Amino acid sequence: MDLELITIGDELLLGFTVDTNAAHIARTLADLGIRITRRATVGDTPSDIVDAVHDALARTGAVLTTGGLGPTADDRTHESLASAFARELVLETAARDALAERWQRRFGQAMPESNVRQFMLPAGAEVLINRHGSAPGIWLENETGFVATMPGVPREMKGMLAEEIVPRLIARMAARGSTPDTATVVRSRTLRTTGISESAVADHLAEFRRAVHDVPLSYLPGLDGVDLRLTLSGHTARDADARLELAAATVRQRVGSWVYGENDDDLAALVLDLLRAHDHTIAVAESCTGGLLGGRLTAIPGSSSQVLGGVIAYDNRIKVEQLGVPADLIAAHGAVSEPVARAMATGVRQRFGAHVGIGITGIAGPGGGTPEKPVGTVWVAVDVDGTVHAVKPVLPGDRAEIRFRATQIGLDRVRRVYGQMADTPGWTVSAARPSVVAS
Ligand code: ATP
Ligand code: MG
Repeated sequence: MDLELITIGDELLLGFTVDTNAAHIARTLADLGIRITRRATVGDTPSDIVDAVHDALARTGAVLTTGGLGPTADDRTHESLASAFARELVLETAARDALAERWQRRFGQAMPESNVRQFMLPAGAEVLINRHGSAPGIWLENETGFVATMPGVPREMKGMLAEEIVPRLIARMAARGSTPDTATVVRSRTLRTTGISESAVADHLAEFRRAVHDVPLSYLPGLDGVDLRLTLSGHTARDADARLELAAATVRQRVGSWVYGENDDDLAALVLDLLRAHDHTIAVAESCTGGLLGGRLTAIPGSSSQVLGGVIAYDNRIKVEQLGVPADLIAAHGAVSEPVARAMATGVRQRFGAHVGIGITGIAGPGGGTPEKPVGTVWVAVDVDGTVHAVKPVLPGDRAEIRFRATQIGLDRVRRVYGQMADTPGWTVSAARPSVVAS
């Protein structure tokens, strides 16, 4: 089934809002074997909305829109559709009353009068319930096809797409003899790597180049690492999944321990899972990352059983006073050095009584670099029960990128210690120095 998508809003045209709705809708529908054949963005001007809907209906006869359903004067999608379909605007009282009642219950006061506007809908439209916000969508049909509207707010749009639109689209496909078992779909699977460059990953996969067992492969470098995306189209879901499984197994086998997860996996969540499996706790000592690592860990629901806390030891005095880093160590080696990173990891582990301590100290830039320690130089140390591992990557990117990449390396090193991955390069290991034991 082919569909056209129209995203509506001045903010989208101006670039103040990035059109994430279009990406989400295309991905969700591709999974069902529905193709978005054309995508348009128009402002909140009724004549532009009418033109876009009119053209899309004439071409494809199947149109989805997002945006412009709200109560304010700039929300004009439904009035435009009424005009495109030559229908009256009528007040949908049942939906209005339901919201008025919800409003009263939730906020203890009457629904503002301006909200009534969003229930002025084209006559004959079917109402699509918005369970995540206030503005309803509609499904409107005539002899040339259908238009379905969704809110602009991404969370509301996602809910309405899943709960109201997808079931109707599946029913339509079924009515034409196409079911999820026979429809051809676009499916993808992403293997996530970290700590390895794009070219080094490519070396591991040299014999495959652009496809693995005929499944096209793309390299997507980002802050988390290099994602390897396998994408297949033109097969039924069952067939596609089997081929992806085979290709993914081959990639995992070739790339080995550099693969830490799949699809939306977050390394912080995976590390917490590992710690939880051992009933272990973690504490972090952060200089150049300034709490970013602690933030990533505590962003994961349920982290409180593993994460004890951390110290943002930005100033040297704090490294000494709060983590027990010997002042002479800093004087002798500098704050960005292997002994200091190790002492930070061990200090926070011991003072917090954790199984694992991570210490990060580095130069995030843009200033502060020297020929021996250029911007991007970071020492990351991981102390697991008294055995301390340390590594010194020189990270690329701007300040924000260096800081994020440093947290990723700290997490990855914990993953590698727990996974007993012997192939970890650039890694020095030693027992914790007794001199940093907390006083
Ligand atoms: P509301 O009831 O809140 O007014 P609405 O359905 O009228 O919702 P808009 O007013 O068009 O939707 O957009 C509301 C917000 O949703 C925008 O400020 C923007 O942040 C976000 N938004 C709108 N369209 C998109 C889009 N295509 N992609 C991502 N975000 C969007
Ligand atoms: Mg709005």
